[in-house]
Amino acid sequence: MQAEIVVLPGDGIGPEVTQAAVRVLREVGERYGHRFITRQHLIGGAAIDATGEPLPAATLDACRKADAVLLGAVGGPKWSDPQAKVRPEQGLLAIRKALGLYANLRPVKPHPAALGASPIKPHLLNGVDLLVVRELTGGIYFGDKTRSGDTASDLCTYTVAEIERVVRRACELARQRRSHVTSVDKANVLETSRLWRETATRIVRDEFPDITLEHQLVDSMAMHLLAKPREYDVIVTENMFGDILTDEASMLAGSLGLLPSASLGEGRVGLYEPIHGSAPDIAGRGIANPYATILSVAMLLRHSLGLEDEAKCVELAVSRALDDGQFTGDLAGGRPAIGTDAAAAAVIRQLQ
Ligand code: ATP
Ligand code: MG
Repeated sequence: MQAEIVVLPGDGIGPEVTQAAVRVLREVGERYGHRFITRQHLIGGAAIDATGEPLPAATLDACRKADAVLLGAVGGPKWSDPQAKVRPEQGLLAIRKALGLYANLRPVKPHPAALGASPIKPHLLNGVDLLVVRELTGGIYFGDKTRSGDTASDLCTYTVAEIERVVRRACELARQRRSHVTSVDKANVLETSRLWRETATRIVRDEFPDITLEHQLVDSMAMHLLAKPREYDVIVTENMFGDILTDEASMLAGSLGLLPSASLGEGRVGLYEPIHGSAPDIAGRGIANPYATILSVAMLLRHSLGLEDEAKCVELAVSRALDDGQFTGDLAGGRPAIGTDAAAAAVIRQLQ
């Protein structure tokens, strides 16, 4: 097949990890006889420096026309003045909204070789394999914000349609896994959460009778995620709860540098990025872990291009590289570490 992929390197370690991931993508294309055309565009701080805007129109146009978007990371101390009118992160919120990417998928499956890097006891982590589906374009992050005198407010709004579509997406994904969905809300306090719970209950009853649905309050979910992570399959939740729970869930995997994500909408074009940020503390040194971005390429192959075999091939290659002890500094824990390019080369060697 032929596919056009827009690459948005962004800031900090973004260019380093996307370059490594694109090398893997090219190699997979060659092995399987696909033509992957990649084009780079600006986003975030790099875009502000070049054009004054965090999401230039040319970038958005290119993303709309592409089959998929691969993003590194945005932001850094250079653009972090709280008084600044434009900030790199606005570019990311704007692209998610403009492309209608309402479902953010964050799979968490700790690799045996990385268990030691997690602060959680290894016996609790064995067999953990969960997928958080976070609503990405609604809720309090997008509601009206006001400030008047000594009072501030952020409005949290959800419509039935917004809840239905993300719950459906979560259920469809659960069908390909263990058919168990945990819907997370705060229905004892919040009206949006009561609507969330009612809607999730109805969608599963009417459309997904084969799915087991469980409801959890977000506060107890935060606890269970660490105490019994093995018991979860798909977790679906609203925007802010998902933001917080996925950072917590990342600790199950040992390093931020291992976790990929996909942001999907109704259309085919999805946005794929590692869950970590731009890591300014290690940028430009060639030591960033590229595995999360390479695993994001696997999600891109699966969800936007429908290439399941190729996706599995990449995941298996990363897994083998880790089995083989190919650790970047964040995973090495005192053992010898390799750099970004060597890690990409290790994955390429393991592609079969
Ligand atoms: P953001 O606000 O964009 O999410 P953040 O403040 O959460 O960013 P990160 O940039 O994700 O922070 O970095 C957090 C820590 O994890 C830093 O010490 C960074 O060096 C480390 N880190 C993040 N990503 C990687 C990676 N791919 N490889 C190695 N270390 C990483
Ligand atoms: Mg962060």
